[in-house]
Amino acid sequence: MATDWHEKARTLDIPSQMMINGELVYAASGKTFASVSPVDGRHLADVACGDVEDVDRAVAAARLAFEDGRWSARAPAERKLVLRRFADLLRTHRDELALLETLDMGKPIADSTSIDTRAVANCFDWYGEAIDKIYDEIAPTAPGTVAMVTKEPLGVVAAVVPWNFPMVMAAWKVAPALATGNSVILKPAEQSPLTAIRLGELALEAGIPPGVFNVVTGDGPEVGRALGLHMDVDGLFFTGSTQVGKYFMMYSAQSNLKRLGLELGGKSPNIILSSYRDTVHAATTSAHSAFFNQGEMCTCPSRLIVERSIHAQVVETLVEIAKSYAPGDPLDPATSMGAMVDERHTGRVLQFVEHAAEDGATLATGGRRARQQTGGCYIEPTIFDNASNDMRIAQEEIFGPLLTVIPVDSVDEAVKIANESCYGLASAVWTDDLSIAHKVSKGIRAGLVYVNCYDCDDLTTPFGGFKESGIGRDKSLHAIDKYVELKTTWMNVACRD
Ligand code: NAP
Ligand code: MG
Repeated sequence: MATDWHEKARTLDIPSQMMINGELVYAASGKTFASVSPVDGRHLADVACGDVEDVDRAVAAARLAFEDGRWSARAPAERKLVLRRFADLLRTHRDELALLETLDMGKPIADSTSIDTRAVANCFDWYGEAIDKIYDEIAPTAPGTVAMVTKEPLGVVAAVVPWNFPMVMAAWKVAPALATGNSVILKPAEQSPLTAIRLGELALEAGIPPGVFNVVTGDGPEVGRALGLHMDVDGLFFTGSTQVGKYFMMYSAQSNLKRLGLELGGKSPNIILSSYRDTVHAATTSAHSAFFNQGEMCTCPSRLIVERSIHAQVVETLVEIAKSYAPGDPLDPATSMGAMVDERHTGRVLQFVEHAAEDGATLATGGRRARQQTGGCYIEPTIFDNASNDMRIAQEEIFGPLLTVIPVDSVDEAVKIANESCYGLASAVWTDDLSIAHKVSKGIRAGLVYVNCYDCDDLTTPFGGFKESGIGRDKSLHAIDKYVELKTTWMNVACRD
């Protein structure tokens, strides 16, 4: 029988405390903040609103746990077993976690159950499974010496994450950090704290010792900043806006030069060329990727750069596909576009509709708020045509279901425009000409290039951006490097006879 998610929501326990040193606790100040669902404006919980004092408590617990070796000194094979048990528990709690995520930040329940929760469990499995297969090195030095190059955990690591994929973004950082033996403090976004708290509880249940994985809820300028400035945090790994990423660089410089990993914004160019035979397929896939997750995606292909000869057909197809993304009830499994994360963000996204009109783009479809009678936050899938790359809708990250179409006359012009952005996260090119595919993919300055596809995804590949899209990579074995220090140990082993 199909799950009745509304019914399930009525009896769902909503977590509201932080996890520090293996215990669910209120903020030291007793303060809370309201967690409001963008699905229908319902009040979900009053969540503990942490501050510097709670960060201090969490860092002290994490430091003690790290120093006494309750996790850091365990054999990698033992950490693997615990992380895999954690992944299994996440699978067992799939429906609960998916529902919390959907209620908290508005994404369709079909996505939370089939994409987010699955990706999170797989991520803990993957890093757990990897960690007892990674070797240290002996350097090829002269006879008489042995130089060992070993990887050691950083120590106390903080992860500060956004609200668009709350659990997935957390897992991409927490899984490799725990696998390598660090102690972790996770700070979820204020808009989406619920699943983070449950991750903390389930980690404990899986056997991750108290103090090793802490969750501090609260707002960014208080809790995020306190972690960024903390003298006893060794590394800070952030996903979020470029602006806040820059703050973290300042915090690091103002404190202990803690290591940073920054996964920041994007304004991804998606180039459809006339040398790709199936224009309709390219446009269809592009529209799906642009409207997936309400467009609240750092890799959203929000700048569609198209050769003029196929421009009309591409726009016609985009508008057709947009219809299937009419916002619906996020708790209905048939819904493909849910709610925007909150009122504030909804207002911000809608401002870009005004900017587009002022800057002279043509509205091809959408542009309005939807489902207002529900009390939730919904925006129609929106397409702007005949835009130029200097418009605000082409330069600024909107993080909503707004797609900007820019017609061009040549491949070279397409690449030039693709690169005229402060961002360099994802990109795509559609062509059947192998030489052009090579030339364009090499020419684009971005961490990800899709050729004749969009949003292929696998844990085995690094994820992150060039330019102001960030520093460092999540996912894959490359991510492991962020959470370890390299130590070189020289030994004189020459015979003294
Ligand atoms: P955001 O405002 O940068 O917030 C991200 C996190 O930083 C939240 O936990 C937030 O806490 C915290 N924060 C905010 N202000 C802070 C401050 N002054 N000091 C310390 N921490 C602070 O981003 P968002 O609006 O949540 O998310 C959207 C952005 O994330 C987009 O720009 C998107 O491109 C980016 N993103 C990037 C990736 C990637 O992998 N490259 C993935 C997803 C999203 P509070 O919310 O509690 O204040
Ligand atoms: Mg919320």
